[in-house]
Amino acid sequence: MPRRQETARGSMPLKELLIPKESTAMASFGVRDLDTMMRFAPRRYVVPAPLRSLHEVSRGEEVSAVVSVVSVRDRAMRSRHGVILEVVVSDAIEEITLTFFLTKQHQVQWHRGRLPVGARIIVHGTVGYDDYRQALQITHPAYEPVEDTDEGRAWAQRPRPVYPLRQNIAQSTMRSATEKGLEFVGSLSSPVPDEVLSRRALPRLDEAVRLVHRPLTVEDTRYGMAHLRYEEAFILQAIFAQRRDQDERIPAPVLAAEGPLQGLFDERLPFTLTDGQCEVGARIEERIGNGHPTSVLLQGDVGSGKTVVALRAMLRAVDSGHQAALLAPTEVLAEQHHRTLLTLLGDLARAGQLDGHEAATRVRLLTGSQRTAGRRETLLDVTSGQAGIVVGTHALLTESVEFASLGLVVIDEQHRFGVDHRRRLRTKGPAGQSPHVIVMTATPIPRTAALATVGDLDVLSLRESPGLRAGVTSFVVHEKLPKWEQRMWQRAAEEVAAGRQVFVVCARIDEDEADAPAPPELDENGVEKPPSLEPARGVTQTAQRLAEHPEFAGARLGVLHGRLTGEEKQEVMAQMVRGEIDVLISTTVIEVGVDVPNASTMIVLDAERFGVSQLHQLRGRVGRGEHAGIAFFDTTAEVGAEHSQHLRRIADAADGFALAELDLRRRGAGDLVGEEQSGLQRTLKHLDVMRDARAIEQARQDAFAVVAADPDLTVHPALAGAIADRLRDADPDVERS
Ligand code: ADP
Ligand code: MG
Repeated sequence: MPRRQETARGSMPLKELLIPKESTAMASFGVRDLDTMMRFAPRRYVVPAPLRSLHEVSRGEEVSAVVSVVSVRDRAMRSRHGVILEVVVSDAIEEITLTFFLTKQHQVQWHRGRLPVGARIIVHGTVGYDDYRQALQITHPAYEPVEDTDEGRAWAQRPRPVYPLRQNIAQSTMRSATEKGLEFVGSLSSPVPDEVLSRRALPRLDEAVRLVHRPLTVEDTRYGMAHLRYEEAFILQAIFAQRRDQDERIPAPVLAAEGPLQGLFDERLPFTLTDGQCEVGARIEERIGNGHPTSVLLQGDVGSGKTVVALRAMLRAVDSGHQAALLAPTEVLAEQHHRTLLTLLGDLARAGQLDGHEAATRVRLLTGSQRTAGRRETLLDVTSGQAGIVVGTHALLTESVEFASLGLVVIDEQHRFGVDHRRRLRTKGPAGQSPHVIVMTATPIPRTAALATVGDLDVLSLRESPGLRAGVTSFVVHEKLPKWEQRMWQRAAEEVAAGRQVFVVCARIDEDEADAPAPPELDENGVEKPPSLEPARGVTQTAQRLAEHPEFAGARLGVLHGRLTGEEKQEVMAQMVRGEIDVLISTTVIEVGVDVPNASTMIVLDAERFGVSQLHQLRGRVGRGEHAGIAFFDTTAEVGAEHSQHLRRIADAADGFALAELDLRRRGAGDLVGEEQSGLQRTLKHLDVMRDARAIEQARQDAFAVVAADPDLTVHPALAGAIADRLRDADPDVERS
């Protein structure tokens, strides 16, 4: 991952501080000034082996010992070219020989110069055995002079920082550069106020960087790093706090009317809202009613009832005399939303039509592919305010579409919707006001990850699924264990016999084509290089095999994949929905938008080739009605292999929230969904959103308090500077407001 070039403002340039070799090494990591260098943390530490007395060490042990030099001699090697240097050392009780095999005379001189008789040194190495002399020895130990005091020994035993390296850069160069920097820690700029640090029992910055780069103990490194992590979280949260504060100063339409549309809609709902929907709905109403633009992230699994919640808020906007826009990432999805809203609203969406309700509004679809005449009419409705609800793609916001009075924008799926989009929206409201924003996502983010990445949004979650959901139980099946596979197909056949329907999903259409997606690679922590996977099973061949399978004799099979025409696909899906197909074998085309309440079984073949959320969406296709769902994740991976364990963890995860955590732990925060939301995520340096949850929460409290007391950070110039650096760092275009 290429690092951006970073220069903290007002910080000492390294070029003036270091020799060229050192500043070049740092520059290869984009580190060009003192403040940045002192926050460039070691990747790890090497901790010397524990100090021992020589009489208690034994062969094969790794040891450290404080000793003095008794004698030094060298002799030519008998069999090879070179010199053996033997240094006898003693810790007053026992002696041991340090042995060096050297090829050059100057090496001999160098060691002799550092090892005069009587010198006190600390030796680190592995104890070996010299067969010739029949005695213990340490070959090629590391050693350095030591003062034989408590401090001296502690210093000699200190953890050694190991910095990341690039080609042609020596560890010693990174160390010497940082060592020089340590002499100037007094000039570092510390954005976290001292008062906050002492309340959180954290070291001051100068102490922290000493502990990080020149620790005496492993405990020191943790204490020092705690400051750097906290500082990073604190700056992020201060950014979010300032954004919130800015929002507080911008006026927004007050969407507080209590009807009539929303009330009529509620009356007509064929179901009652879940507690979760009511609670989330109330919190949204509270926010959009208060006269300042609010940004809500509404997250919940597919089918958790987000759309209904958002629609109620949109109706409130219309009731309050304003308009609402619903944006989807694609035209197809926009059309689907449009149909959904028309269905849900019924005569409430038919203003001006004969069968329209007297309180009705208009719900308009506006896409780029509309023909000009229809489009003009729609635009007129939008501009005049006749259309209370407008559905479209994100283009709605960039085009010069004029709303009469846009009060609320609902965005489906946040991935492509970043902070800059939200900023742009600020100008779309009536008379200098900013509309409210609700972003809906079916890929939830764990709470602390959300705080660290989209901390300027209010995150509201729908965790329970509404309605008559019987739910779904997932199993991992190993193709290598034929009994399991047989049982899986048998089970599917039983479901068909009981009148229910089965989905079989394959990773590709045809086995004689190389069109299967590769399995996701697992990182060094997740172990395993990609195994030599067997080729994935195809839709065509799987359908043939099932047709010949005695268990499925008489079952009606259907196939569905991207090579069928749009009409064919619709017809197959329609048959499945009508129950005229018992087993549908398909690629992932069924992923989006299908509802077959009678489907009870989902079989995913070569499941390791699918992503976490894909598998979750797939299994969400069954168990939607009154029948309990079963999902089988069938894999060719060996039992216990990483892919198999990974599938098992997905199988065991209760919902999208549990999966999000799982995914995050596995991948690290690397490409979290929130990235584009804040533009900040991609440059997290020290923070791990799972591990550092507590620090993130504390930093949020503290930073919000600091910003509340000093919104423009006039008495916190170091923090203001750090924020400016951070924003420019994250993205020069997106972030500068
Ligand atoms: P999401 O947008 O989160 O995917 P939707 O709002 O589209 O979920 O809801 C999924 C389905 O569940 C829709 O058919 C919707 O009408 C239905 N639904 C929503 N809320 C409830 C509820 N409280 N009880 C029963 N069914 C509900
Ligand atoms: Mg939906």
